[in-house]
Parts: sequence; C-alpha cells; structure tokens
Amino acid sequence: MITVAAVQPESIAEELGLKPGTQLVAVNGRKVEDFLDWEFLTADEEFVLHVRQPDGEEIEFEIERPLDEPMGVALEPPRIRRCANRCDFCFVDGLPPGLREVLYIRDDDYRLSFRYGNFATLTNLKPHDVARIIEYRLSPLYVSVHATDLMVRRHLLRNPTAPEIIPQLRRFAEHGIQFHTQVVLSPGVNDGRVLQRTLDDLWGFGPAVLSCSIVPVGLTEFSKHHLCREPTTEECRAAVSEAESRWPIALEARGIHWVYGADELYLRAGLPLPGAGAYDGFEQVENGVGAVRWLQQRIDSAAAGLRGWAGRHIGVVTGTAMAPLMPQVLEPLARATGAELELVTVENTLFGTSVTTAGLLPGGRPELALALLPGESVNDDGLFIDSMSVASLAQQLPFEIRLSQDFADALDLPLAA
Ligand code: SF4
Repeated sequence: MITVAAVQPESIAEELGLKPGTQLVAVNGRKVEDFLDWEFLTADEEFVLHVRQPDGEEIEFEIERPLDEPMGVALEPPRIRRCANRCDFCFVDGLPPGLREVLYIRDDDYRLSFRYGNFATLTNLKPHDVARIIEYRLSPLYVSVHATDLMVRRHLLRNPTAPEIIPQLRRFAEHGIQFHTQVVLSPGVNDGRVLQRTLDDLWGFGPAVLSCSIVPVGLTEFSKHHLCREPTTEECRAAVSEAESRWPIALEARGIHWVYGADELYLRAGLPLPGAGAYDGFEQVENGVGAVRWLQQRIDSAAAGLRGWAGRHIGVVTGTAMAPLMPQVLEPLARATGAELELVTVENTLFGTSVTTAGLLPGGRPELALALLPGESVNDDGLFIDSMSVASLAQQLPFEIRLSQDFADALDLPLAA
C-alpha cells in the first residue's frame, strides 16, 4: 500500500476525492506495494482502484480514462532498499561524520536503478523482486557488476552470499531486459585479467548489455585506506588501453564503442579524453563518463543564447575531482559568454556549504557577479548535504548564486536587478 502525498488540481484524482494521506490499496485486486505497481497496474484505460481515505473509509472506483490523461497524484517517497554489501570503497564510508543521518544509508534498489539510473548490484533481490523485474520488464537496469568472477565479486562487495551475476543477468536478458553496466576498478582486485574476463563475459551477452563503464575507485580521507587504494597512473592507463582495444570490434559488430572509461580514469591516466563521438549516446554521462565532452556540446549548442555576460566575473564552483578537467569546459563557456570565468575549487561539492562558502568567500570576492554551483550539490528539496538551503547560502554571499547542470541552463537569464 502506498500513500498519496499530493493531488494535482483538476485531475482525475481530485475528481475522485483522493487527498494527501489517501492510501492506494489495490488495483484490479492486486495490492499496490510501491510506485512501480502504481504505474504499471494503472497503465490501462480501465481499472478498478481500491483506496482507503484518511478517515478510514474504503472505496472502490471503476476508472475509465484516456491513456494519455494522468491520474494526477504524487506519491510519498518509497522506502529505499538497503544494501546487502560492505564494499571497501563504499562512498558512504568516505563521507565525513556529522551529516544528515539519511546520507549514511547504503541503498541498493533495483526500482531506483530503473527509474533514475542509479547503479544497483542486484545482490538483495528476493524471488518476488525478480518476478516483478520480469513482469514489468524493468529495462534498462543500471548494474554494478565490478567483476563477473564470483569469488572476486564477493570479495569486492564484501558479501559472501552475493549470487552469481552472469546467471542473474542471463535470466533477465532472456525476458528482454537490457543493462548498462559498470566496473568500479579496484587495483589488484578486478583489473588486469579479471577486467578482461569481465568485459568478455559482458560483451558475450550481445545487445542485452548496452554499455559498460570503467570507473576508478575514488576515496576520501575518511575511506578505508587500509583495505583499498586508488589505481596508479599505470593501472589507469592499462584499463584505458583494455577498453579502447575493444573499440574496433565493438564498432564493427554493433556500431558503438560499448565500453567507456570514466573521465576520471583518463585524468588519472594522464591521457587526453577521447572526442565526443567516442561516447555514442552519452548513456553513462551521469556516472562521470563523457561528462566533459557532453558539457562542451551543451555549451556549443546553447552558445547563441548565452551572450550578455561580457566583462562579468563569474565563479564556477567545482570539486577537486573535476577541477583538472574543468578548463576544457570553461574555455568554450568563456568564448560563448564573453565572461571572465574563475574556477573555484572546493574539497568536495557534496560536503556541503561550509566548504563551498570557504571557497567562495576569501577576501569577500567583490569582483564576482555570480557563482555557479553544481546542480547535484543539492537534493530534491533544495538542501545541501549539511541541510542548509540554497536561500540560506545565498544570504551569506554578496553575489548571486545559481545551480547549474550544464552552465547553459544557468546563464540564459540576466542577473537579478
Ligand atoms: S554496493 Fe557497495 S558501494 Fe554501493 S552502497 Fe553498497 S556497500 Fe556502498
């Protein structure tokens, strides 16, 4: 059963009398467990909806509506599936202490993998989940494979009962489900021959595996350095070479490069990034794969609408990981806007406003007219990782701040008067 969080005015839901707090109990006699059930079970033009109103009244509605007319309800957020693993390189371990409790939750949720492209390991699936993935054809799924060798994968995930990934993927693939996959590269564990075998196995699935990215392990000062380390320049070069050596065959067979090194892999390897064409449809850009080339393309295509900033001084806030790559993005941005851009590198943009403010405030920065912050540094409620709101941060700064995904989205309007 799921609960309605909000009802859209003049929608079917409002007409039926649904309200915040209404429980959606069943559709056509099937229990509604979460947003997936709700979306898939109500996908027909006609269905019977059983609800429980906040006052306890139970009602059944026979719904008949055009397919393109949404019901008009927003649902309360789902309870996130907890992760069954304890990877040495887990980003949760890498967080500093003292942040909001919710940030320390290790989630591993196939539903969010399908909906938002979050990577999941599929190690916590119950038979019921497997049946739903197949019935609802949740495709594509984003899967953290890391290694196809069972023992290596269990070691990486620190999960002695993790199931074999190949039979899992095969079963789903037989039902038409496709995957974007990733390998987080842990040197000495899943690189070298293990990486070769992993890529061979995944390529062997054919079109069911849409892509595979190789992302180097990223650690912070809080990570378990006694258990894992970041790959060296040579190790990153070897992984890039392993990926790129497969491109001719992949292009010949499928017309795509199929295996992609993350931008950070190239950076750590000391190698130039490949051209935009090497990322095909930028399928894993949110995983840091092709992000620089994607940003350059976005800026180029929006350039005509970015004029009007000539002579302005704009601070561009970025974390230390992306900072060395940012000049490649700022150069076309400066060309398009005419602005003077200053890279403001902060320790980690996800660590909250204290580091961001510290980066932005030395000397008061009277020269800055505007600062751009990465959009991913706030959650859906507009809160930074330390619970400060964008508005509160703005009050502390003597210049305007804007959140941005690709710069073009934040520079198409002039400064507030
Ligand atoms: S799968 Fe590993 S990295 Fe991801 S949340 Fe679980 S323990 Fe952390």
